[in-house]
Amino acid sequence: MGAEAFFREQRAAFGHTLATQGTEATLLQAWDSFDGNVAIQCEGQPPVDCAKGCASCCALRVTALAPEVFVLADYLRATAPALQRHGIDLIGAVREADAITRGLDETARVAARRRCAFVVQGVCLIHRARPLSCRGHASHDRGACADAAAGRVDEVPYSGPHRMVRLLLQAALQAALLDDGKAWGAYELHHALVLALDRPDAQAAWALGEDPLAEAAADVEQREAMAAGFDEMGC
Ligand code: SF4
Repeated sequence: MGAEAFFREQRAAFGHTLATQGTEATLLQAWDSFDGNVAIQCEGQPPVDCAKGCASCCALRVTALAPEVFVLADYLRATAPALQRHGIDLIGAVREADAITRGLDETARVAARRRCAFVVQGVCLIHRARPLSCRGHASHDRGACADAAAGRVDEVPYSGPHRMVRLLLQAALQAALLDDGKAWGAYELHHALVLALDRPDAQAAWALGEDPLAEAAADVEQREAMAAGFDEMGC
């Protein structure tokens, strides 16, 4: 199946799930689709070298869609008391990271070398619920990632299939959200989480068509072209 046919198929599937089962079910569907399609696309490719304990790429700017932000905000609220008993203040860490990185573009974000708030002892504490943008970032060479994070090299051999599947699935999910009358942009993760945590009715407002995360938007300049691209690919 070609890329455009895949996009159309996934857009329709996400639209159906959004209408019949809601946002969280659609997000789970997107994550499952990512895993399944990456496995297919990676057949015969060099192995990915990512491993638990390596978080070299987690100092890059992370963007997430609104459903991903709301799932994580719920997770943070639900797990905060238990984590605090173990001395982990994830909500505090998100706020601290946001205070340091808010408004930085991709280049400045990398230069700041500030790791994502969810990295604890080299491990992503939200690995199973990490955004699509993180899922699509896989490397064939951990050493090159460490060198890039330290500023020693510019190039890292990233996995093409992970990137392609992520881009297509994220676009299909965004198109389905657009079709459904929802805010469909990409948001800087930490800033968007702070907005969602500070406004308990944020998800309800989003479900009604508002954009309560607008202040954290990371893609405003590209949205018009993206929407036109969705239309073209949807033909
Ligand atoms: S969410 Fe997890 S995988 Fe993504 S940047 Fe943060 S720590 Fe890394």
